[in-house]
Amino acid sequence: MKIGKKNLILNEIGAQMEECIFCNIIDKKSKAYIVYEDENTIAFLDISPVFLGHTLIVPKKHYVTVMEAPKEVLESIADDVKFISEAVMKATGSEGIMVVNNNIVSQLVHHLHVHIIPRNFGDKFSYPRGPRRRYTEEHMNEIKEKIKSEIATIKNN
Ligand code: 5GP
Ligand code: ZN
Repeated sequence: MKIGKKNLILNEIGAQMEECIFCNIIDKKSKAYIVYEDENTIAFLDISPVFLGHTLIVPKKHYVTVMEAPKEVLESIADDVKFISEAVMKATGSEGIMVVNNNIVSQLVHHLHVHIIPRNFGDKFSYPRGPRRRYTEEHMNEIKEKIKSEIATIKNN
């Protein structure tokens, strides 16, 4: 069903949600160049690669972020990250691999996914060298304590 510019579909409980391109790939309603698939995850070539061989690892159940996905889902993605990184590196002859996951900000597809991107020395992709900040020691301690406190709260729930 199409409403305005967005394709809306009904989920299992009958609520409307925006149609998900990765769910369509998982359901084989849309074409993708699949390199791996099991009961939990699927991996396919990114349609618009940073470098050739750029692969996406996607859980078969629809979650938007790592915060919302259950631990077991993240574990199955982590298993794939290990061997698919090795495979992409060998298949493309790259010198390294970048593993990236965008959550909310910079996340164009709202279905959790991990990018496996082949990298080479001097390839001019600038991500790790982007603008960096400097801490004062006071600020570093303050942020450290805030994150520790949030971790303690999350772990206790
Ligand atoms: P994000 O910005 O959400 O982390 O990355 C989404 C990625 O999905 C982008 O790199 C984009 O090229 C890729 N992508 C978007 N639509 C499709 C599609 O229909 N098929 C495939 N294979 N990749 C897609
Ligand atoms: Zn989805």
